[in-house]
Amino acid sequence: MTKAFSANQWDERETWSRDRLAAFQADALARQLAYVEASSAWYRARFAAAGFRAADFRSPSDLARLPLTTKQDYLAALEAAPPWGTALACDPASIRRVHFSSGTTSRPTPDAWTADDLARWADLYARATYSQGAREGDVFQCLFSYPWFVGGLGATAAFERIGCAVIPGGSGDTERQIETLFAYGTTAIMATPSFAAHLAEVAQRMGRDLRASKVRHIGVGGEPGAGVPATRARLEDLWGARVYDCYGSLEFQPIAWDCAAQAGGHLMEDFAFAEVIDPDTGAAVPDGTPGMLVLTHLDKQAFPLVRWATGDVVVRDSRPCACGRTHARLPGGVLGRADDMIVVRGVNLFPTAVEDVVRAMPGLADEYRIILDDSVRDPATGFPTGIRLQVEAVGEAPPDIGHRLADAIRTKLLVRAVVEVLPPMTLDRFTHKAKRLVKR
Ligand SMILES: [Zn+2]
Repeated sequence: MTKAFSANQWDERETWSRDRLAAFQADALARQLAYVEASSAWYRARFAAAGFRAADFRSPSDLARLPLTTKQDYLAALEAAPPWGTALACDPASIRRVHFSSGTTSRPTPDAWTADDLARWADLYARATYSQGAREGDVFQCLFSYPWFVGGLGATAAFERIGCAVIPGGSGDTERQIETLFAYGTTAIMATPSFAAHLAEVAQRMGRDLRASKVRHIGVGGEPGAGVPATRARLEDLWGARVYDCYGSLEFQPIAWDCAAQAGGHLMEDFAFAEVIDPDTGAAVPDGTPGMLVLTHLDKQAFPLVRWATGDVVVRDSRPCACGRTHARLPGGVLGRADDMIVVRGVNLFPTAVEDVVRAMPGLADEYRIILDDSVRDPATGFPTGIRLQVEAVGEAPPDIGHRLADAIRTKLLVRAVVEVLPPMTLDRFTHKAKRLVKR
């Protein structure tokens, strides 16, 4: 039996008025901060160092008195008392699940969940997949990795809760996955965008057309992808299915998932309190302005986080969605990492956005260099641009390719760049940790 609140809504809270949501958040924050202060030695010390007492908390604006919690802070707390660290807020005996970070940037770090935490997590995933259209009777093949990674078991629990048949496929055995999804009439899958694209490629080699399968619902996560319109359109075309961005992290499961309107993932504002701040000054930025997402758990028991600096740059939109839900959305998903954001004459820009435009233009090599320099001026107009973009021509590149690239950059990114088209193989190549942004 499905436990949905209504035919198109899993939980009553999804359509609460903004006022009701704000009142709920204020109460939940007061409760959670008191719990964190009492239960986490590490946070108790940080609160005290900031001259903050949970008992004095009056409104969410008080949170700004507390420092951000960074990944480095979390690592330090783990080092202090392995394996759980000093930030753990529950008795280790009440831990029911542990997942780990991939360890690409540091030693794999753990996150843990109590029984209540797990139930909450499954319910939030169910809410989000239900908002995308998953229903009782769906056949769900989970193509997320199961070992270590958070996605696989979370998605499995959510679809079971909705009332679907779940096939825990995992992220390997590509040909078997394809045979299985045809044989058992799979209607919904979740995968990383790269695995979803890989499956389509292998299916073609096998002479199978995924568009002829019953899959109509694809949730992608674990890496950026569905937030990029070109990537989403490509996957939707390959599968003949709708693709939904499912943004989360090890520390916050989930963060913001697309609804059926695909108008930017909905934050789960009754689970995490979200701030969007200027990463340099720490000041809150208004809706519509890019900033770093900072999250505070409203009810997590094992590893609660207060003002967690996600490092992800987003734009928040708190206006109601076409789907009727009131929780704020993040149109475009994660726009980039805060460390990578540059400001050119008042316009926020990510190197990845420039890369998109360069790589979409036939006749140019993939390599490029962005040079930020206040003295750069457009030679034709004398207009200061502050940005020079070096690219390389390949093959029979049309002679006006530099102009066309400058036009595309201006139209798509709203900045004027002076484009220099260089001969092939002029720029240095990178095999690891590319550095394509130069500041002068
Ligand atoms: Zn919506």
